[in-house]
Amino acid sequence: MPRTANRLNVFTESVIRGMTRLANRHGAINLSQGFPDFDPPEELLAALEKAARGPCHQYAVTWGAPNFRQALARKIQKFSGVDIDPDQHLVVTCGSTEAMMVAMMTACNPGDRVVVFSPFYENYAADAILAGAEPIYVPLHPPGFGFDPDELRRAFAQRPKAIIVCNPGNPTGKVFTREELTFILELAREHDAFVITDEPYEHIVYEPLQHVYAASLPGAADHVITCNSLSKTYSITGWRLGYVQAAPHVIAQARKVHDFLTIGAAAPIQEAAVAGLELPDSYYAGLRDLYTRKRDVFLGCLRRTGLRFTEPQGAYYVMVDISPLGFQSDTAAAEWMIREVGVAGVPGSSFFREPEHRYIRFHYAKREETLLQAGERLLKIARAGG
Ligand code: GLN
Repeated sequence: MPRTANRLNVFTESVIRGMTRLANRHGAINLSQGFPDFDPPEELLAALEKAARGPCHQYAVTWGAPNFRQALARKIQKFSGVDIDPDQHLVVTCGSTEAMMVAMMTACNPGDRVVVFSPFYENYAADAILAGAEPIYVPLHPPGFGFDPDELRRAFAQRPKAIIVCNPGNPTGKVFTREELTFILELAREHDAFVITDEPYEHIVYEPLQHVYAASLPGAADHVITCNSLSKTYSITGWRLGYVQAAPHVIAQARKVHDFLTIGAAAPIQEAAVAGLELPDSYYAGLRDLYTRKRDVFLGCLRRTGLRFTEPQGAYYVMVDISPLGFQSDTAAAEWMIREVGVAGVPGSSFFREPEHRYIRFHYAKREETLLQAGERLLKIARAGG
């Protein structure tokens, strides 16, 4: 019997998506896989209906429909200040998930090293391995999840081809400062490496902090490959729409990877999503306020359990320290929580390189009533632990 590829033996299926399946099987409130239980803006829904009756049912241009790329370029330029030529700086992809895979395959030769901060979003190690590269890890230190500059310097001494920066961070909620991003970029420039960023939570940053786009820093043009997604900004995770943004010579190669992986993102979806990209600035302020309220509601619920947890600066994840509950492993704790408490989270160990089993990650991209209901259920934990 022929054997499948060896590289597939070194990572598992996504634990996040596995937890969603388990939550559905047990009817638990699903705070594991990060996606909203509320609708996208009305403008997007109307545009989707209209697109269904329009002419966009065949392949779009492989690197993205022109009107979508034009609207995207305007929106990126407005928020980041970076000059974008929609014909040269962008490839439209199926979510940031494809964008990251495209970036990695565009940047790396087999055997190259890629620096990944730990904890990390679980796709990154798999992306590196599928691209034939080897992830090397640099810890982010709680409670603030900053990095130690010397540890990062030592990782760069191993001559990596790229570093991955998720900003705002999943699962940490870390928002990288301008100084931190500048330090990372300087190291990358010194060592001829790429900075591959993943920024789907760019608009979910809590005041007074602000999102800094790595691509906007001086000297970024030839080094930064930005990956991003419309999923979280417009509450359309199922639309699978994202993009790679980089220098024209990088994009010329990225287009080839993308073309042979998927040909393109869905044409009617690109057409409809233009309505999102054209929403006024007040939409983004509203989104930040909406998530600030959700964060406050959910953290308020967590406080009542008496357990300790991380304080997100951005994105919509929180890691709860479940060590007082006395479970053998975080996986056992997460499964117990789904079955007995009726709330699903993700075992924190799936985000860490280090043997760290003390956290469960929850997200709060849910309606307030869902969060409050989850909060009521989570009080059982306090009783179990107490
Ligand atoms: N980014 C989300 C999370 O971390 C969704 C992951 C996914 O399934 N693509 O939960």
